[in-house]
Amino acid sequence: MLPGVRPLNGALSRQGQPVYSPGEEIFNRGVSGQGRQVAGMEEGDRQHPAPTAPPGRPHGEKLQLLLRRSQEAKHSAYCPYSRFPVGAALLTAGGEIFSGCNVENACYSLGVCAERTAILKAISEGHTSFRAMAIASDMGDNFIVPCGACRQMMREFGTDWDIYLTKADGTYIVKRLEELLPLSFGPEDLKKV
Ligand SMILES: [Zn+2]
Repeated sequence: MLPGVRPLNGALSRQGQPVYSPGEEIFNRGVSGQGRQVAGMEEGDRQHPAPTAPPGRPHGEKLQLLLRRSQEAKHSAYCPYSRFPVGAALLTAGGEIFSGCNVENACYSLGVCAERTAILKAISEGHTSFRAMAIASDMGDNFIVPCGACRQMMREFGTDWDIYLTKADGTYIVKRLEELLPLSFGPEDLKKV
């Protein structure tokens, strides 16, 4: 738990299903670059200083930019079949952001997710070390989560980075990649035989 951040236990979706595990941190978008804001706080409430993010985790304006870029990327989605636009924004170790959207095809199996689009763009520009990814969709009641294929694609580049899962209103939860894909298989495993 981050100092100054309180868990909001007991939140339920409209279906009555818990939308996060007990003790999970839920954040609203920060305001004016002041860092993350806890859901339920009044906008403009400045009584509590912005909590300090763990080392390596984006915070403040950088985090807000990452979240915004994922929302913006969603508007470029080519999804005439699913009508389920998704945007992703990938933060490199050097601080650059690459965004991506889902791109579908009449041959359905050729469709590519937003997360993989962002990764492919970053890799093709010479970046292989990543700090975080934010993912956005139009779902209002649920945090968007990456599919299994994207989790494996992310894992290729390490398990120790953060995935920001958002709702349409910008509320988000943060998961380490190793939480999203436990007991994973990666490039180092190929060297074990
Ligand atoms: Zn995917």
